[in-house]
Amino acid sequence: NGNRERSAQLYEEALQHIVGGVNSPSRSFKAVGGGAPVFMKRGQGAYFWDVDDNRYIDYLAAYGPIIVGHAHPHVTEAICRAAADGTLYGTPTEHENTFAKMLKEAIPSLDKVRFVNSGTEAVMSTIRVARAYTGRNKIIKFAGCYHGHSDLVLVAAGSGPSTLGIPDSAGIPVGIAQEVITVPYNDLAALEAALQRWGSETAAVMVEPIVGNFGMVMPEPGFLEGLCRLTRSHGALVIYDEVISAFRFHYGTVQTYACGAFPDFAAIEPDLTALGKIIGGGLPIGAYGGKRDIMERVAPLGPAYQAGTMAGNPASIQAGIACLETLRQPGVYERLEALATRLADGLAERARRHGVPLTINRIGGAFSTHFCNHPIRNYDDAQKADGEQFARFFRLMLDQGICLAPSKYEAWFLTIAHTEADIEETLLAADRAFDSMGAEGTR
Ligand code: PMP
Repeated sequence: NGNRERSAQLYEEALQHIVGGVNSPSRSFKAVGGGAPVFMKRGQGAYFWDVDDNRYIDYLAAYGPIIVGHAHPHVTEAICRAAADGTLYGTPTEHENTFAKMLKEAIPSLDKVRFVNSGTEAVMSTIRVARAYTGRNKIIKFAGCYHGHSDLVLVAAGSGPSTLGIPDSAGIPVGIAQEVITVPYNDLAALEAALQRWGSETAAVMVEPIVGNFGMVMPEPGFLEGLCRLTRSHGALVIYDEVISAFRFHYGTVQTYACGAFPDFAAIEPDLTALGKIIGGGLPIGAYGGKRDIMERVAPLGPAYQAGTMAGNPASIQAGIACLETLRQPGVYERLEALATRLADGLAERARRHGVPLTINRIGGAFSTHFCNHPIRNYDDAQKADGEQFARFFRLMLDQGICLAPSKYEAWFLTIAHTEADIEETLLAADRAFDSMGAEGTR
């Protein structure tokens, strides 16, 4: 897959017309040494093909949504049906009821939901509602967790524990960043200190209950339970951002997940939940919801305004229903986990054999690979992983037809379309990649 001439040409053209040549910065190859990203033209199952006709095994899964694989017939059929009936009405439809009921059945903490168009919008809306409900302004979040690109959550930690945030992007007023406090993930003492100082002004604590944005990182036993207890003791709301995690590990969310060492998840319920990615079956979507008395603050029932021309559009909703129907089939998540385990264990074993340091965090059918020897339990740990080693690995894999996200922080996502043969092909490619990386390391 070394010949990507047409991609290079299209990238040159894109640079003339589209900012940075990409419509989301995560698609750029900036973090892996620069150059042209690969321009894809077709996806089918676990594969896609680029404009030079190279085939790739896809572990990017479009940053998560494509869990049933590309162009799954059931999802495709739903989208075609929706398109044939007209793509947008600006009125309610029965499909929205059907889908809302499906989500509520899978996620018991949702008394009421509202559909929006992206994860960013879902998170933004939960913050608006939490502020309206509590009459407070501040938000506490965790370093390295990504909650979309709205002003309030694109804020990094200040210069010390329990300090106010600083903007992570130009164009965010310092005054807004100062409404945000950032603490390390898996650190209850830091959260407690922040709440001690700012608790009476805090509307909500926002968390990815299982982190997907600096690798896959599990909450340590007691972390979520302590987070909920501390937050509520200060009269603030708990918001789970389940944009990545919902329907990722099982048919439901982290709040309903009871896996091996973490049987306590089911006992903990957030007040509000943000959803996106998988629930749109590959079309744009977001949703948020929660307890009745909180959600009833939203217009037209309440004073918190939130709206959307495209929200609940028939194509996204029907693609989402078809995707969840596919995921609801027996054995789906067991298979995803079996494939991911085989691949993650195989990678770990081969890296070890070639003397390449690699820490793998696998949860269900997704895992992250950090080039380092230390465990990853927070953003600091993830930042210390070797980005250059990752960049080298990324390119060696790409040249062998294995597509990963161009970032050392992103996970590998298995889809129901991957096969054992794909795993073996990937492991063979990884073996060659580690071999040349190991050889370089000892030179
Ligand atoms: N929350 C989380 C946890 C996410 O991972 C993302 C996107 N990666 C978002 C929110 C934002 O979603 P979107 O890109 O659909 O706006």
